[in-house]
Order: sequence, then structure tokens, then C-alpha cells
Amino acid sequence: MAAALRGRAGGLAALWRLQSRRLSSFDVAVVGAGIVGLAAARELIQRHPSLAFAVLEKEQEPAHHQSGHNSGVIHSGIYYTPGSLKAKLCVQGAALCYKYCDQKGIPYNQCGKLIVAVEHDEIPRLKALYERGLQNNVPGLKLIGAKEIQEKEPFCRGLMALDSPYTGIVDYKQVAQSYARDFQEAGGTILTDFEVTNMEMAKESSPESEDGLKYPVIVRNKKGEEISCGHILTCAGLHSDRLSEISGCSPEPRIVPFRGDYLVLKPEKCYLVKGNIYPVPNPRFPFLGVHFTPRMDGSVWLGPNAVLAFKREGYKLLDFSTGDFLDAVSYSGLWKLVLRNVSYGLGELYRAFSLSAQLKQLQKFIPEVTTNDVLRGPSGVRAQALDSDGNLVDDFVFDGGTGNVGSRILHVRNAPSPAATSSLAIAAVIADEVERRFQL
Ligand SMILES: Cc1cc2nc3c(=O)[nH]c(=O)nc-3n(C[C@H](O)[C@H](O)[C@H](O)COP(=O)(O)OP(=O)(O)OC[C@H]3O[C@@H](n4cnc5c(N)ncnc54)[C@H](O)[C@@H]3O)c2cc1C
Repeated sequence: MAAALRGRAGGLAALWRLQSRRLSSFDVAVVGAGIVGLAAARELIQRHPSLAFAVLEKEQEPAHHQSGHNSGVIHSGIYYTPGSLKAKLCVQGAALCYKYCDQKGIPYNQCGKLIVAVEHDEIPRLKALYERGLQNNVPGLKLIGAKEIQEKEPFCRGLMALDSPYTGIVDYKQVAQSYARDFQEAGGTILTDFEVTNMEMAKESSPESEDGLKYPVIVRNKKGEEISCGHILTCAGLHSDRLSEISGCSPEPRIVPFRGDYLVLKPEKCYLVKGNIYPVPNPRFPFLGVHFTPRMDGSVWLGPNAVLAFKREGYKLLDFSTGDFLDAVSYSGLWKLVLRNVSYGLGELYRAFSLSAQLKQLQKFIPEVTTNDVLRGPSGVRAQALDSDGNLVDDFVFDGGTGNVGSRILHVRNAPSPAATSSLAIAAVIADEVERRFQL
């Protein structure tokens, strides 16, 4: 039975609803209690306090997947193509994130970040990143030389670095939980243990009846419980393509899971790292490369790598799901991606198993780090959208569908990094889009 975490429903009425198959009716149901779904639900209920909103989440708690398994970096917006949603929403989102944390007393550390060139051929790319960051209006950026690198990070070697003092760190699970609280305090309902498996137009209530007109879509979970609603917003991360497919909308772009494993520095070695230290990224990939990231609990994480995963929510090296595997290998886009990047993919796989190979990349920046100084740490799995030509979809994508159910849905199809940083800015864009499409 779905666990109602509270909301508009209360007392006996709530009990009745939980005992019946039809749990309740809502103007808008949001699928997915990750940081994006919660931020959007919070924004929508604040704009429309008289409407009934629900968030439906398959796990027992919010932020269980990507939003609770990430580097925790508040990105400043350097990397992204000027004019893209990613660029705009990251710069806006970082400012909103700092402001929100100040308002709510959520701890963060604006510890800054260096993107460090260790080879001469990386310098032109570093300079191009600097120009890009300026175009994106990232505050405080400057290029610094080897001496200044060592003043900021005494153990880090490099020829030149891009210094981004605006970058910070935060615990995004805490931020997401705070969004959930705001949503509930505004009267929203969060139903956990509610895995959406089906969405269809109501058959039993006539479209002319008041209920039929207002809440014509039935959303069912895998236990056979259901809610009815007027409109749906899906923010389902690693399952966003599947949610789109079951609602009758396009299954493409498909989601390809990329696992990222972290190493952690032993506590006695954490003095080696003061702020974030990143490589100059490989322009062929959307991932930023393995980096040194201090955490809010005082630990330091190294990583993450990017390995094609055989299970969408598989956090261990050997996790495997037959369904997820067959889904992936039956998609032509994946084969095109794999064939274009065989050597890179095999290299990442090798490094995932070999601690010393992973360390080799990191020692380019801090040569003092040895295998004795690190332990294997946690992992995260990125939901990366991939088109049928094998291209990784770079920008955030919001998309609706057609038909009875499809025209009542807005899908968040691709919300990779820095979507945690950008969550409040993304929420405003989603809320605008929901209002426009559904005339709320
Ligand atoms: C390794 C890693 C490092 C990252 N580092 C950073 C970083 O430093 N800074 C940054 O800004 N971003 C970072 N990101 C990206 C960021 O974490 C994600 O972009 C963000 O968390 C996406 O949030 P989301 O709500 O879209 O997805 P998720 O957090 O994955 O939430 C989706 C939710 O939908 C639920 N769901 C799925 N299917 C169903 C269903 N059928 N029914 C009900 N519920 C369903 C899931 O259980 C899940 O809770 C990182 C990501 C990873 C993986």
C-alpha cells in the first residue's frame, strides 16, 4: 500500500483513501520524487495553492537515485554551450540554490574550483572554456598560472587553471528533502512506494461528469492502486523513456545508464585537497572527467568514472538486470555510440576494475596520492538520453505528447548534470510550460 507522507488528505478521509483502490484525485500528479520532480512540484503548488498536487515515487523515500548519489557540486555554469538551457539554467540555478540554502539554513561551502591543464595541448581548450564561462556570465572567473595553482591547492600540479570561486558544494539529498517539506507544508501529497506502471483515460466516469472532466486520467501503480488526475508531469530520471512509452508518447530519446564510481581519500589524507579540482574535459563526452571533490561531511571523493551500466539502478560493479540489458542492446542508438567509442569505453571499464589505473588519472593533478591513500567509495548512475543516431543528448529536454493521455502530459526527458544545481531554475521553466500547455 502506498505510504502517504502527508498532505491535503488527513484523518479518516485519508484512511479511507488508503484502503480503497482509488487513492485520491489530483489536478496535477508529478511522477518522481528526485530533486527535479520535487522542485517542480514545489514551484507549481506555490503558484497554484488552490489546486491539488501529488508526487508519486516508487521508492520509500525522496531523492533515492541520482539526486542522492552525486558529486554534490554547485556548478557555476562554465561548460555549457552559450544560449543553451543548460547554460542559462545552471547560472540562474546556482544563484537560486545559494539563496535557498541561506533561507533554509542548509549548510553549503562555496569552496571554489580549479579546472587544471596538466598538458600543453589542454591549454587552448582551457582558454576556450574561460571564454565560454564569460559568455555564460559566470561570476569571478580567471585564468591562473602554476604558482597561483599551488597557492590555492598546495598539492596540485598544473600548467594553467581556470579558477571558479563561485563553485560550491552541498548535500543535494538534504536540499531535495527540504523541497519535499515545502511542498507538503503547502498542502501537497507525496505517495511513496507508488511505482507508476500505467496511465490511461478513465473508462468508468463519463467525460461529461464533473469528476470525469476534471480528473480524466487514471495513473496506476504495480500493486493495482490508482489515482485520478487532470494532468501529469514526469520527472523519472533513469526511467524517463519508459514513463513516456507507457503514456503512449515517444520512447526516444532512450535512457542509457552510465555508472560513476568514486574512490574516497582516507581521512588522514584529506588535507591534500582544499576545493574542487577538475580536469580539462574531453570535448567528445558530456561528462566532466574524474575530479577531486570535498564533501560537506569533511571527506573527499575522487571520481566519478563513466562506465556503461547493465542495470539502470545498479550501484555495484557487477550489478546486472536482464530487462535493462536487453532494452539497451536492442537499441540501435547504443550500438552506434559503442562502435564510435570502443577504445574509450574499454578504457573506462578497465579503470573501473583497476584501482591503480584510476589513480593514474588523478596523480596527474596530485602526484602524492597513492593506492594506500584511497578506498573504494559509493557510486551513482547517470540517466543520459541517447538519440537513435547514437548521439548523447546534451541539453535538458522537456517534451509532451499527442492523443488523449499524451496531450495531458509533460515529460522531463533529459535532466543530467548540472540538473541538481539548476533544479530551482528548471522548476520555473517546467511550471511555465505546465501553465502554458494545460492552461492552469
Ligand atoms: C554520479 C553523478 C554525479 C553528479 N554530480 C552532480 C553534481 O555535482 N552537480 C549537479 O548539479 N548534478 C550532478 N549530477 C546530476 C544530478 O544528480 C541529476 O541531474 C539530478 O539528480 C536529476 O534529478 P531527477 O529528479 O531528474 O532524477 P532522480 O533523482 O533520478 O529522480 C527520479 C525519480 O523518479 C523515480 N521514478 C522513476 N520511475 C518511476 C515510476 N515508474 N514511478 C514512480 N517513480 C519513479 C525514481 O525512483 C527517482 O526517485 C550527478 C549525477 C550523477 C549520477
